[in-house]
Amino acid sequence: MPETRRWENTSSVKTSRALTDIMRRLPRIWLDRFAARRLAPQLPILAGDIPLPDPGMLESWIRDLCQTPHRRPGTPQGQRAEDWVAQRFREIGLEDVRLDPIPIPVWTADRGELIVAGRAVPCFPVVHTAFTPSGGLRAPLVWVGTGTSRDFERVDVKGRIAVADVPFPRMPTGLMMRAMKACYHVSDPDGQISLTTSQYLNFVRQNFIGGATSPEEAPATDVFWQAVRRGALGVCLILRDQPGNSNTHYGPYDGILKPVPAMWIGREDGIVLQRQARAGALATLTLEGSIQPGTMRNVWGVLPGQSDEVILVTSHHDSPFKGAVEDGAGVAQVLAQAWAWSRVPRERRPRTMVFVADAGHFHGSLGAHGFARSHPDLMKRARILITLEHLGGKEVVGTNQGYAETGRPALTVMFTSREPTTIASVVRALTAFPPRRTAAIPSDLLAPVPTSDASGYVAESGVPVISWIGCPYYLLDEYDTLDRVDFADLVPIARTVTELVRIHMALP
Ligand SMILES: [Zn+2]
Repeated sequence: MPETRRWENTSSVKTSRALTDIMRRLPRIWLDRFAARRLAPQLPILAGDIPLPDPGMLESWIRDLCQTPHRRPGTPQGQRAEDWVAQRFREIGLEDVRLDPIPIPVWTADRGELIVAGRAVPCFPVVHTAFTPSGGLRAPLVWVGTGTSRDFERVDVKGRIAVADVPFPRMPTGLMMRAMKACYHVSDPDGQISLTTSQYLNFVRQNFIGGATSPEEAPATDVFWQAVRRGALGVCLILRDQPGNSNTHYGPYDGILKPVPAMWIGREDGIVLQRQARAGALATLTLEGSIQPGTMRNVWGVLPGQSDEVILVTSHHDSPFKGAVEDGAGVAQVLAQAWAWSRVPRERRPRTMVFVADAGHFHGSLGAHGFARSHPDLMKRARILITLEHLGGKEVVGTNQGYAETGRPALTVMFTSREPTTIASVVRALTAFPPRRTAAIPSDLLAPVPTSDASGYVAESGVPVISWIGCPYYLLDEYDTLDRVDFADLVPIARTVTELVRIHMALP
């Protein structure tokens, strides 16, 4: 008999703290926004039409890239994707197409199992956690809530398997864009961003954010590391905000190997497991697999222009599952720009373009960092970085049955650097070819660098950035499949990007 709990918003303290920070910055954002509006019409722009690939070509690119069940870094599936992108770059006519190797440990789970009271609980291994001895580890469960210090004070987790809830924060996007105007520009030709528009940020697991290598380094609110510090042998994490009892969550994808095994549990299964943990039921947790030395590769190519100043256009090719939206859609947009601009004669291209499909977004964004680090001269010549991710995804909402499409496109944002001409270029392109449900926001609105694959380039080189990214609910889940892409939206999106590039080709 399946149990259900009512679908509800579990929005959180952290979201409101972020909102307070944003409030403080509003006057500056409004000033920049005002200045950009005045500057936008005066910006120079490259003359002439830029041809775009037809919709069928964009669709076939995404379908071809997303044929394997995943494109995880360093795996044969990941390497197939790298070779595939390199082949497309060569066909399109890019020069010097290269695959820069980056060595990584490749973590692979062969078997994950959780048995409680003689019954298997559906679960999915938390990436980069420790393997158990063969036969698994057998210990009592203990319930630790969301892992606050008060939760841990009440129980002894030493020698046990800790069971916890992991909520996702919810961003009141409509409120931020429409009421607070915490953005440079809103593009919403169909009037589909309302005050109540909001989205779950599933990559922000508030009590298991990732990036720590030890309990000392982890925040006090990190349930995984606090359980480790107190001697837990394993951890079970309930995805209480992930729809439809899904347990396939690929995160935290920091690439950091963690000292005890852990499993993701779906929200419905979590209700039973919570009760069993409160009763101290005995469980056997098995996580078997291997860690092998491997290689992932940044794929990139050059379209020389009249000068060696660079317009850098990037996305990442890896994905935890099918990854049609993340980032089949992003790679297709990079290919679309490469295709379009390679059809413009060199004498009409004032600047050189460099196209990168980088590796290991799901391994601590090592590809983006590695590219910027190993090509400092190129980064110095880069006038603008345009990063394209998850564009053309469909919006969904959570229900007890799973994800339900709303008929709208998923909301996207353009993280935009504060230079007046960069903001103005975005305002101008979004006005000329307005994409659906998009807002341009300061690149450092949520964090010092964009919360996107652009972060590695910006952190390493300080390059000015326009990072266009969508955040539909199903990213990081196996439900990021081909049917989530609105193929009809891809060419209009490419046209807006082309307009941006036309401006950055002509800027002095
Ligand atoms: Zn992405």
